[in-house]
Amino acid sequence: MFIERLRLKGFKSFGGSHELTFSPGFTAIVGPNGSGKSNILDGLRWVLGEGSPNCLRITRQSDLLFQGSISLPTATETEVSLCIREDPKICTIKREFSPETGTSLFVDGMRIRLQDLDDVKRQWHMEGEQFAFIGQGEVAEAIHHRPQQRRSILEALFGIDQYRKKREDANQK
Ligand code: ATP
Ligand code: MG
Repeated sequence: MFIERLRLKGFKSFGGSHELTFSPGFTAIVGPNGSGKSNILDGLRWVLGEGSPNCLRITRQSDLLFQGSISLPTATETEVSLCIREDPKICTIKREFSPETGTSLFVDGMRIRLQDLDDVKRQWHMEGEQFAFIGQGEVAEAIHHRPQQRRSILEALFGIDQYRKKREDANQK
């Protein structure tokens, strides 16, 4: 499986529509400080279901909307879409947000709930040891955490935190 395309519309520093295409294998994103490298990863995390403001480096949801520039107006909605390929199959995941309608998620054009994304990610091997986001400074952070916090970081990395969430949800019902 590999990420074939990521499209960012009105997302953070990406005003207008930007399409990034990738090849299988290793990709490095380079650019000056503040040019939007981490925002690309935030887009990737967001479309794959991330909601934590801390992780997305925002204070409120509306911080995801492009704030406008001299040449482009402020975005009233944002959309990130991701195309993944495992020949001959492809899958498109799209997430939208606007302050009026909130957030919506689509897989191959069909609307799904955020919690159903876990199943899609599992089908596409986008969890567990083959797939992890390791952010700037996170290795050092994990080393300095208490064992309990370190355990929850590792559980999230290996994709097993969802089973804890499911058990907690089931216990609440
Ligand atoms: P570094 O090399 O320092 O890690 P980077 O390339 O990763 O930099 P990012 O953190 O992706 O940079 O981008 C930061 C820039 O994105 C800042 O200039 C910030 O103003 C801008 N930015 C963040 N959110 C928005 C937004 N909603 N609208 C417009 N610009 C934004
Ligand atoms: Mg960065």
